[in-house]
Order: sequence, then structure tokens, then C-alpha cells
Amino acid sequence: MPGDLVTALTALLPAGAVLTVPADRVAYERDWRQLYADPALCVVLPHSTAQVAVVVALCAAHQTPIVPQGGNTGLVAGGVPGPTVLPGTLPVVLNLSRMRQIVSIDTQGNTMLVQAGATLAAVQNAAAEAGRLFPVSLGAEGSAQIGGVISTNAGGVQVVKYGSMRAQVLGLEVVLPNGEVWNGLRALRKDNTGFDLKQIFIGGEGTLGIITAATLALSPAITARATALVGVASVAAALRLFEALREGAGAALSLCELICGPAMVLAAAHAPGAKLPFTAACYVLTELSGTGGGADVSAALEAVLAAMLENGVANDALIAQSDRERAALLALREAVPEGEQREGGAVKHDVSVPLGEIPGLVAAVEALIAARYPDCRLNIFGHLGDGNLHINIRPPMGQIVAALADVKADITRDVEALAVARGGSFSAEHGIGRMRLAGMRAHKSTVELNLMRAIKRAIDPSNLMNPGKMIPEDDQT
Ligand SMILES: Cc1cc2nc3c(=O)[nH]c(=O)nc-3n(C[C@H](O)[C@H](O)[C@H](O)COP(=O)(O)OP(=O)(O)OC[C@H]3O[C@@H](n4cnc5c(N)ncnc54)[C@H](O)[C@@H]3O)c2cc1C
Repeated sequence: MPGDLVTALTALLPAGAVLTVPADRVAYERDWRQLYADPALCVVLPHSTAQVAVVVALCAAHQTPIVPQGGNTGLVAGGVPGPTVLPGTLPVVLNLSRMRQIVSIDTQGNTMLVQAGATLAAVQNAAAEAGRLFPVSLGAEGSAQIGGVISTNAGGVQVVKYGSMRAQVLGLEVVLPNGEVWNGLRALRKDNTGFDLKQIFIGGEGTLGIITAATLALSPAITARATALVGVASVAAALRLFEALREGAGAALSLCELICGPAMVLAAAHAPGAKLPFTAACYVLTELSGTGGGADVSAALEAVLAAMLENGVANDALIAQSDRERAALLALREAVPEGEQREGGAVKHDVSVPLGEIPGLVAAVEALIAARYPDCRLNIFGHLGDGNLHINIRPPMGQIVAALADVKADITRDVEALAVARGGSFSAEHGIGRMRLAGMRAHKSTVELNLMRAIKRAIDPSNLMNPGKMIPEDDQT
């Protein structure tokens, strides 16, 4: 009985660690984009791996599903309750925010051991205090938790140099769906001892277990940065600029973001104190960084920009002259999603294509929207160097995204198909959650889906761990 489970959980966990009152639960039930708000049986806030294991074992005994949750900043509604997969059974939301300890830092091995509920920002700060860098960086880093960032294999703005979250994870501790604890917290750069099991939990979106701790790789601290905002006339020119930066700066290129004109207008309106230095059809925000003297990266950036201004690929460029100016430029990029949300939202997409396909993809999307949804507004930005674009369709002026409810699925189907047709992915960094299941059905082969289902069945035979997320149910394919 659900009431029995709540009673048992309340008896086992410390006071205040089980939330049952609707008003207390609501923030954990609603996704960041405020698109869904399905009820949970209760929300549990364990303090330790042992408590997580007890909760999971109890839920298994009661055949009650669990939704693992971190900072609840995910953009595909993977960390909130979904439609009830087991009829009549509401899930327990297991939120890791009370497990946020930075356990230890090894500056010789360049590793950090953290509990899963530590925020990404806390991990970055702890690394910086130890004279190291934790390079994953994204707009939600103040709230997103390491467990969530690992479970979504999040990317962010420095993938071009450091890779996504997967590249930073050396070891994991996971509570499995039966309540067993797998301690895989190794701090090794090399370990070829059979299947690399941590990989199935990275990007696993909480469907196979609950990550409770992680050993992370740290990088050398950055001592020199050169940052610029560049105005270009087209997406194709932005791509040429990226190639020139990659050629001229090599491994120093750590950030190369595309912000199309309308996206920049939104950002400028919503970034506190923002002032756009020039107007352009498209903007590239780029940064070179390194561990040597500042002169190296500044000289490399200036040389590339001078050549690009000279040959007409770039029209305008502003190089940040201080940390404050750098922060203001980065804030512009980060303000794009926030601004979009505040101005009515959008039908969002997170696609990737091989680099050479980017201009063609943007042109095809522009043609699609002009032909079928001429009053809608395009908002395109993203991680140019990774071939990853957020192609978001805003509703007609004066309306909010709910106005597109009837055509939303069609828009998404068409935009994603344009990316997939160019050898791309329909979900580059945000994952699948409950929002991209149609894409899984449309674009993943049966062989691939059945492999995923086989792994899921082997580890979670009762389908209790985040059911209805990431892997489409058999009967619907
Ligand atoms: C303003 C903004 C900017 C963003 N920018 C980026 C970006 O640049 N790049 C990018 O990739 N993403 C971005 N995101 C998306 C989001 O921040 C990331 O997906 C982040 O990794 C989610 O972390 P979280 O702790 O909030 O996870 P949640 O939203 O709580 O959960 C996400 C998924 O992980 C699972 N999960 C959470 N914690 C655990 C755990 N401990 N064990 C097992 N499963 C778990 C959940 O069940 C869910 O499926 C952005 C989001 C916002 C709001």
C-alpha cells in the first residue's frame, strides 16, 4: 500500500526528509520549463548513500517507481514524475540535494571525490580553490548537480576543448534498482578490466540506478584567457571563423559559441547591465585559454581576428580588456535561454550535425518556418564548435509558446528530421527524458532500441527506475 511505504520511509529517514504535503512537493514535481507537473507519492531527501539504498530497497519491495532528481534543471523533463507507467502507482521522487559534500581533492592525481548532490558550481569552486579547473560549464551550473550533470552527460560551453561530462568521470558509486550499492569509485586513468560499467550510467538519465558519488578528473587551472565577441554576416561566415580559430589556436580554443542576431537581441534585453557593442546578423563568442602567459593566447586571438577582419569573414570584433568585460560577454550568451523563457518560451530543439552541414541545416529550417509557420520567430544559438545548435521556434509576437500546442509536435518532428537527414542527432546534449521519446521512436533503429531495452531489463527487471523516460516502451515502437 502506498500509505505503508510513506510510513516506512518516514520511520527510516531523519525528520524532514520525506515531503508529503502537496505545497512542499510542488517544486520537485514541476520541471524547469514548467511544462509538466504530475504528482509524486512523496519526495525523499536522503543524506547518505546508505539512506538512498534503504529507500530504493523499500520502493522495490513495494513495487513503487523512483524518479531520481538533482537540481531539476533538465530541459527534457527527465527528473520529474511522468504519466503513471504502473497503473495506480505514483512514483517517489528521490532528490539528492542533501548529499552535497566535496569529499576530497587529490592534487597529485588531479581528481576530486564528490557526493552526487554537489552543484556544478560548488565543484568548479572547490577545484579552483585547489588550484585546478573543473571544465564543464553551463548556464544552470548554480543549481544543476553533479549527479544530474553525469546522468544527462551534459555538454555546455567548453566541450570544444575538454569534452562533455563523460570525459570528466573516472568513477561512480551507484545504488542499483534492487538497493545494492555498486562502488566503482576508482580514480584511475587506465582500467581495462572488462566492461566499463560507469559508461552506461553516464547519460543514463536515472533509468538504471541512482548515482550517489563520483570521482571526477580535474584539469590544470587556466592562467590566461583571451575572449572576443565577433560580428559576422552569416552562419557560413561564423563557421569559417571557427575553422580559422581552430587552425590558429589549436588546443587553446576553449569556447566558440554561435548566437544568431535575434537570439542576441533577446540576450541583450535580459542580461543585467548588458550593452551590445555592435549589431550583426550573427555573433560568435570565442575564447582561447591556456596555462602559460596571457600574451600567447591574446596574440593568437588577435592574429586570427585581424586576418578575418581583413578578408571580410568578420565585420566587427571586440576583445574583452578585463575580467569584468569578459564576464559581461559570457553573460550575454547565458542570457539567451533565460530571455527566451521570459518572453513567452519556445518550441525548443537541441540538434547536432557534422560541422559542414550547419549552414545548410539553418537555411533548411529558415525555409521550413517561412513556408509553414510564417508568424513564428526563429531563435538559433549554440555550441558552434560541437556542431550543436539550439534551434528554437518562438510563437508569433505577443503570444506565448502554449499558442503553438497544436503544431508543436509537427514542428519538432520536422526540425529534428532536417538534422537527422544531414547525418545529425535529434538530441545533442539535453537527453531524451519524457520529451524526446517520439524522436527515439522515429530515429533510432530497432537494433539500437532493443539493445537499450536489454540493458534496462537486465539491471531493472521490474522497470522501477525512472520508468517512461529515455527508452520508449516496446509496444509503442
Ligand atoms: C539555463 C539552463 C542552461 C542549460 N545549459 C545547458 C548546456 O549548455 N548544456 C547541457 O548539456 N545542458 C544544459 N542545461 C540542461 C541541464 O542543466 C543539464 O541537463 C543538467 O545536467 C541537469 O542537471 P540537474 O542536476 O538539474 O538534473 P535534473 O534535471 O534533476 O535531472 C536530469 C536527469 O538526470 C537524472 N538524475 C538526476 N540526478 C541523478 C542521480 N544522482 N542519479 C541518477 N539520475 C539522476 C534525472 O532522473 C533526470 O533524468 C541547461 C539548463 C538550463 C536551465
